[in-house]
Amino acid sequence: EFISVANLGLALNVKLDIFVQQLEELGFEDISKESILTGETAALVAQEYGYEPTVDIGEDEDLKPRPPPEDPTSLPLRPPVVTIMGHVDHGKTTLLDYLRKSSIVSQEHGGITQHIGAFSVNLSSGKQITFLDTPGHAAFLTMRQRGANVTDMVILVVAADDSVKPQTLEALKHARSAKVPIIVAINKVDKDSANVERVKSDLAANGVEIEDYGGDVQVVCVSGKTGQGMADLEESILTLSEMLDIRAETDGMAEGWVLESSIKPIGRVATVLVKRGTLRPGDHIVAGRVAAKIRSLRNEARIEVDEAPPGTAVEILGWKEPPDAGDQVLQAPNEDKAKTAAHYRQELKERAENIAQQAEQDRERREKELAEELAEADAEVEEGGAASAGIKTINFTVKGDVHGSVEAVCASVLEIGNNEVRSRVLQSATGQITESDVEHASISGSIILNFNNPIPGHIKRMAEEAGVKILDHNVIYHLAEAVRDVLSGHLTPII
Ligand code: GDP
Repeated sequence: EFISVANLGLALNVKLDIFVQQLEELGFEDISKESILTGETAALVAQEYGYEPTVDIGEDEDLKPRPPPEDPTSLPLRPPVVTIMGHVDHGKTTLLDYLRKSSIVSQEHGGITQHIGAFSVNLSSGKQITFLDTPGHAAFLTMRQRGANVTDMVILVVAADDSVKPQTLEALKHARSAKVPIIVAINKVDKDSANVERVKSDLAANGVEIEDYGGDVQVVCVSGKTGQGMADLEESILTLSEMLDIRAETDGMAEGWVLESSIKPIGRVATVLVKRGTLRPGDHIVAGRVAAKIRSLRNEARIEVDEAPPGTAVEILGWKEPPDAGDQVLQAPNEDKAKTAAHYRQELKERAENIAQQAEQDRERREKELAEELAEADAEVEEGGAASAGIKTINFTVKGDVHGSVEAVCASVLEIGNNEVRSRVLQSATGQITESDVEHASISGSIILNFNNPIPGHIKRMAEEAGVKILDHNVIYHLAEAVRDVLSGHLTPII
């Protein structure tokens, strides 16, 4: 398994120039966007960016998700997973509370509901809808950043008395970029100040193609307070769900995502949303770097269940360590495999941390060396004694295409100066300007002279950000002129 730097950058969603720069900082030498990395190295890098590598990294130690089914249309339907989003105070929590209560009523044993990150509503038709019960955008984004496509649709809540607001638009943006379809719930229609038509036209003005205006986005008027329209909302969810034809295998190795993880009096628990397969007590699973043997499964009403099929969320007991929210959960065929995979991932992470630590130490060492070098150079100037007292010194770093040209540039630069200001070459070498040249110049306050070398784009930007000046010419005479200009800028003006 190999991947190019460009493709890995794309996969990790990092701007390419910055990515190459950061790889260099991590200690990769001679790296460019065309460079090819092995799967294992790529996995290490991915971990640096907070990703759990689920890619095949060429070793048999890890667990992998199953390939997608060949013919999904033949699989059983599963309940849709729904996220509620919208502007603050538009009623997300109220709607979720209403739905949760209706889920409790439909539970056979009743019971006190608790927040576990998701709950399922059983409809009289026998169908089920699973709601993620952390409203707001942060949870959605966290999951998305980790590549978790946990939700099948978004309910965009808009208060009828307040209409479209900044966070409404933000939620829209998130749903669009995740390519998740939406249903609009216009809430608070019980209020006198409700203005449904205004909400509709404001949404249309923001590119939401709502049904009333000829589009296919369903709009439902609801009240989380009175319960008005809530059955319609559930109907709309099922309609969209049928259109999306949401199906999954109920058998085979299960896959899912950790929604929440916490320590409760009964032990370490984590809520897992099952996406494929079915989890049962006794199953071995791995989430991130943690393995677990499932001791028991409980739903949001604290009722123990025998199994968690796709599209449902359950609280799982049996963790030795708490997994992280957003971790992908994969079932392992046996305990050995689960342990090996968890161990392997832990090792990968430690190796990635070592690389990062080493890079950091290297950087610190370079800075220290540089500081010493500078102190030495300053001492030399002072040794010049009275003759050089009061003389301003301008530092330069010289880079050129070949040894001869570097020498020639240095010689002509050192000639420039007078009894007020003089030039000093702190560093000179052949080759393109590198990041450590810029770093050095930034710390030492040098100007970089570049002769007959192309300057990479990311170096230009880095220099700009660090406030490092680069004088770039292909004719030595021009370079010398530029240096003369700089030096004369430091002369005391004659009045
Ligand atoms: P969130 O910030 O989106 O979660 O909004 P909340 O659910 O906390 O609701 C904000 C306020 O609006 C609360 O005072 C709710 O009681 C009120 N509210 C929510 N839904 C309705 C509704 O349908 N009708 C009325 N009249 N008030 C509502």
